[in-house]
Amino acid sequence: MGNRTYRQSRYDEPLVFELGKEGRRGASLPRFDWESFELPEKIVRRTLDLPSLSEVEVVRHFTRLSQMNWGVDLGPYPLGSCTMKYNPRINEEIAAEDSVQMIHPRQREEELQGALEVMHKLERMLVALTGMDRFTLQPAAGAHGELTGCLIIRKCMKERGEDKNEIIIPDSAHGTNPASAAMAGFTVIEVTTGSDGCLDLESLKGAISRRTAGLMMTNPNTLGIFEKDVIEISRIVHEAGGLMYYDGANLQGILGRARPGDMGFDIVHLNLHKTFSTPHGGGGPGAGPVGVKGDLEEYLPVPLVVEEGGSYRFEWERPRSIGMVRGGYGTFPALVKAYAYLLSIGSKGARMVSGIATLNTNYFLKRVLEIRGFTLPFQGRTRKHEVVLSAKVLKEDTGVTAMDVSKALLDWGLHPPTVYFPQIVEEALMFEFTETETKENIDRYIEALEEISKTAYTKPEIIKRSPNNTSVKRLDEVWANHPRTMSLSRRMRLIKGDQGAG
Ligand SMILES: *Cc1c(COP(=O)(O)O)cnc(C)c1O
Repeated sequence: MGNRTYRQSRYDEPLVFELGKEGRRGASLPRFDWESFELPEKIVRRTLDLPSLSEVEVVRHFTRLSQMNWGVDLGPYPLGSCTMKYNPRINEEIAAEDSVQMIHPRQREEELQGALEVMHKLERMLVALTGMDRFTLQPAAGAHGELTGCLIIRKCMKERGEDKNEIIIPDSAHGTNPASAAMAGFTVIEVTTGSDGCLDLESLKGAISRRTAGLMMTNPNTLGIFEKDVIEISRIVHEAGGLMYYDGANLQGILGRARPGDMGFDIVHLNLHKTFSTPHGGGGPGAGPVGVKGDLEEYLPVPLVVEEGGSYRFEWERPRSIGMVRGGYGTFPALVKAYAYLLSIGSKGARMVSGIATLNTNYFLKRVLEIRGFTLPFQGRTRKHEVVLSAKVLKEDTGVTAMDVSKALLDWGLHPPTVYFPQIVEEALMFEFTETETKENIDRYIEALEEISKTAYTKPEIIKRSPNNTSVKRLDEVWANHPRTMSLSRRMRLIKGDQGAG
């Protein structure tokens, strides 16, 4: 069972423009009569530079491309911090219904009652899970939620007549935290992580001042460790007149067991596309609802959904609101998926999610530490849903880096973990095994890492050359990130040309 390897498909697939032959066509629609069809001359384009392909060529081209990809539907995706878990198909099906897809934000409220009910009930569920009082469902992602939260902090401080312009953020934080705080006009003050992997209280006391508007924190933090002093931290920040912001990207680790509202947080964002069953990226936009406590409700974006005597309406009259943060009312299909997911797992299921995710990660941790070259920084405290290992020893002994290990995993048909994050760990490899992964799948990683370590200590050059079994070898990441001054096809050619890979 454990020794099965799934290799990625490999095709020497050209760009679609390089396929096909002049005059070749797919489905033949009736000839369009340009002469009798009137459009303003400017929009009419008589010649379109489209590739000439038959239908089956198009189907095969894109099927081959899809097989050169890697995703959670092909195997585990232990990308720590991102919680890439399997998204049950039933939620996708419900969100694909016409009743979800065909509605429009400008429809009359009477016609949107079902949609409003879903939004209202989802909000109540998120309230129950987090201990907040109200949520906006508008923001499109975690980072967007952070910006919304920071704008709320800014407006709140302004209305209180407070001249506070600093947000405190730990050095283990996700890069979006300081970016969001800075975008909202705050100065970012960094605090450090102690030797136990938790925020250092002395560092916090040194950073706090009358200028402190708030503190942004992830709990469990990005090392996968529960912040043991969170109550004390909340007390210190509140005493200074600041607000506590909870980055909910790691809610997976405590779902159904502990609530940010009970830890003293005033504002939270949740990543529905991480914890609550919406695919990231290619599956469409995500959702980053923001919840607040008490009076902060007045600052939430408009509109909120309210229920009155069994019917639902949007509430626009909210004079102290920061305004809309997005067109429409959010990523509605993602909200539907989260609602369906929560209905299907219930509160017991929610506890099981964090329980099994934590068990899986700790099983992996126990076994991986038996492998030469991998160590656990910040020892002493149990990990929750994710763990950050270091390949520093491996690198010192053999020259093989965390990046090389990740590339070698690709040859095993395994998706690599997050690398080089958080930045407080040298040669970081951040693994997250979600509740849907089996023991056998985790064992495959252990087996692969054992082999990679053995090879690194005997023939490191093999690992440094990997991957060898994938469609493309090591991409030139600088070229891949090249600004859009170059066409995509030119960039692709350069990447391919530079690497000499298929
Ligand atoms: C993913 C993540 C974010 C940002 O969320 P997006 O939905 O990707 O914008 C913020 N903080 C942490 C810890 C994350 O893992």
